[in-house]
Amino acid sequence: MSKTFLVVAEARDGALRNVTFEALSAAHTLSQGGKVIATFLGTEGENYVEALAQHGANQVVLVKNEALNQYTTDGYSQALLQVIEEVKPDGIILGHTSLGKDVSPRLAAKLQAGLISDCTAVELAGDAAVFTRPIYSGKAFTKKKITDGMIFATIRPNNIPALEADSSKTAEVTEVNVEVKDLRTVVREVVRKTAGGVDLSEARVIIAGGRGVKSTEGFAPLQELADVLGGAVGASRGACDAEYCDYSLQIGQTGKVVTPDLYIACGISGAIQHLAGMSNSKFIVAINKDPEAEIFKVADYGIVGDLFEVVPLLTEEFKKVL
Ligand SMILES: Cc1cc2nc3c(=O)[nH]c(=O)nc-3n(C[C@H](O)[C@H](O)[C@H](O)COP(=O)(O)OP(=O)(O)OC[C@H]3O[C@@H](n4cnc5c(N)ncnc54)[C@H](O)[C@@H]3O)c2cc1C
Repeated sequence: MSKTFLVVAEARDGALRNVTFEALSAAHTLSQGGKVIATFLGTEGENYVEALAQHGANQVVLVKNEALNQYTTDGYSQALLQVIEEVKPDGIILGHTSLGKDVSPRLAAKLQAGLISDCTAVELAGDAAVFTRPIYSGKAFTKKKITDGMIFATIRPNNIPALEADSSKTAEVTEVNVEVKDLRTVVREVVRKTAGGVDLSEARVIIAGGRGVKSTEGFAPLQELADVLGGAVGASRGACDAEYCDYSLQIGQTGKVVTPDLYIACGISGAIQHLAGMSNSKFIVAINKDPEAEIFKVADYGIVGDLFEVVPLLTEEFKKVL
């Protein structure tokens, strides 16, 4: 039976986030030929209509309200509830981003709907939506089937392939006027802590450094390799605790969970809490002086050696071939 799905679009620095395209693709699969609606909150939504349509949105609902130009929990939950009331979707998909993680439980509670968070795959089993999500810190996966009621999920970035952009596709554009009131928080300034231009949680390539990097300066060769590969630099908590880098780079159980195509761990021992954040990466390369290091147990390729020798060599070789 065809269904209507609502995807909450997210943009950063003037471009839609990849996870929005991935959410559209998930909605497309689950809608069974029904309608995929994207909604964008804030006054710049018109800039994104074309990209949303090209990636599978049949309709784009713009909510042009200045109070929504910056994310606030109250503002977004109030506005989204009004959009949901208007379009009456059978299912809602958000990215498992800071925004999605914050707003989705509130919406689910208000809608009296179940929520399946942090999904890595979606499929149909007959008419039912089936979501795959990691459990036990990523050591196992479970499948959840929704057989009736609202389908509501957040999807982990970099897991569900986006549909290829089709420039011949267009979308119906509508507007919903929402009332947003009694906001308890006001965003005065956004100060972002990132090591480079690439967002760590959406990076396809991550070069991560651990305590073996030994200093802030020790991260320079890792950044150079990341730049050559178009990737981002991450870190273990060991490196963050030692003040070699900022905690915003921390990957693991109490840091970010990442699933890049390529994860190069440099001077990281492979503690279980670190593995919880990166073991589902597609290819893992470990560079460590200690041949017994735990990280080699999850690595597809292991290099036993000094990272300060190996990383610059990799950078040189990648420069030659790319
Ligand atoms: C509740 C809790 C939550 C935690 N959450 C996280 C988390 O989210 N993320 C996280 O990462 N950790 C987390 N930890 C900490 C975790 O247990 C480890 O202590 C931490 O991951 C170790 O960091 P490390 O691998 O960089 O350092 P170490 O364990 O000290 O390993 C350094 C490695 O570098 C290698 N090395 C040294 N010099 C070189 C060189 N020149 N070349 C190559 N290799 C070299 C060494 O052989 C060693 O294997 C958590 C711990 C607890 C208790």
